[in-house]
Amino acid sequence: MVAKLPAQLHPFARPAAPVSTFVNIVSGQGATVFDDSGKSYVDALGSLWYCQIGHGRAEMADAIAAQCRRLAGFHTFDRFANLPAEALCEELVGLAPMEGARVFLTSGGSEAVETAIKLARMAQVRAGHPERTLVVSRRPSYHGVTYAAMSATGLPPNQEGWGPLLPDVVQVDKDDLDKLDVVLAEEGSRLAAILSEPVIGSGGVYPPPPGYLGALRQRCDRHGAYLILDEVICGFGRLGTWWGAQHYGVRPDVVTFAKGVTSGYQPVGGVLVGPAVREPLEAELGFVLRHGNTYSGHPAGCAAGLANLAIMRREGLVERAGQVGDRLSEGLRGLVDGSRVLEARGAGAVWALGFGPDLDAVAVRDAMLERGVIARPIGPPTMAFCPPLVITDAEMNHLIEATGAAIAAV
Ligand code: PLP
Repeated sequence: MVAKLPAQLHPFARPAAPVSTFVNIVSGQGATVFDDSGKSYVDALGSLWYCQIGHGRAEMADAIAAQCRRLAGFHTFDRFANLPAEALCEELVGLAPMEGARVFLTSGGSEAVETAIKLARMAQVRAGHPERTLVVSRRPSYHGVTYAAMSATGLPPNQEGWGPLLPDVVQVDKDDLDKLDVVLAEEGSRLAAILSEPVIGSGGVYPPPPGYLGALRQRCDRHGAYLILDEVICGFGRLGTWWGAQHYGVRPDVVTFAKGVTSGYQPVGGVLVGPAVREPLEAELGFVLRHGNTYSGHPAGCAAGLANLAIMRREGLVERAGQVGDRLSEGLRGLVDGSRVLEARGAGAVWALGFGPDLDAVAVRDAMLERGVIARPIGPPTMAFCPPLVITDAEMNHLIEATGAAIAAV
């Protein structure tokens, strides 16, 4: 008998996986979610690195419903605007890690990265440097799945089989400034932008070495290029500051965001566009920026963003990330044994266990699921943790115990 397949062709999944292998998540409360059999799980990755405020917030449902009753959707192309979109952008400008930013809104992170790369190239053109099309990013960063974002992603398996990638996008190894300088010595006059996550997330959870992001800033200044920080994971409090840029004390020209801007209650992303990029775009009154998504500035999405930021502020969740990270890292360090579990690495409230070659991260994930914890195996054998910032001590204890038990059982 042929196994039944789900109607949904799932992202980052085996297309041949039978329907019986999927876990149906039906509800959530705080840092815990429930499947259709009633089994509970600690959501140790905040769904996919995003659920800052936790699941099941009636206040979020109310804010979104209220906006939907007034106006669920209307576009913001050309001369159209709406109050939630402008209010959310104003708030984000106030939080931004650079002075004088404006905000371009998208529906998610890949579109945000796509937008950042396009804006960097277009700003170079408008500033009189059409030859500056080169974008340098890092291995093993993750920037998304659309063609520019995939081309900038430093994970070869994600790039194989999809045909030619975007030209003029190259990767250097994550912390290797010498390699970067070799590329820049040859190609610096064509450099449009350097793109980097503050902490590499899905590519394996690698914080930058001290001074590294500042060194990227310096290279951009030296070569007339823009520094784009992809804060899709690090933004919105994940590192104990609103942005990773602030945690590492670096001023970006462009910041991409998504995920935590609504804690996932609506699909929203965007780009903070600093003065060096916005000014060339604004210089000529008649210039039209021919770029945008149907849902850029979606009113119900932006209402979710506003309500999410209000909750984060009221509950001090940015500050709480430090406490979550302390407890999480301490617990994870206790699981390091030097052979099967080599290290705990991370920053703020995003951490990972790096496994040795004998420990299968997918098998550990499955054993953790049995024990009521959802984490994500990524990159080199690694288990990633990025829990909601409202996670309780009891949930955290369960997370650590179940992870240890799962490793022992595999
Ligand atoms: N950039 C980073 C750093 C991410 O972690 C992700 C997703 O995990 C993306 C971009 C892509 O975002 P999305 O999946 O919303 O398209």
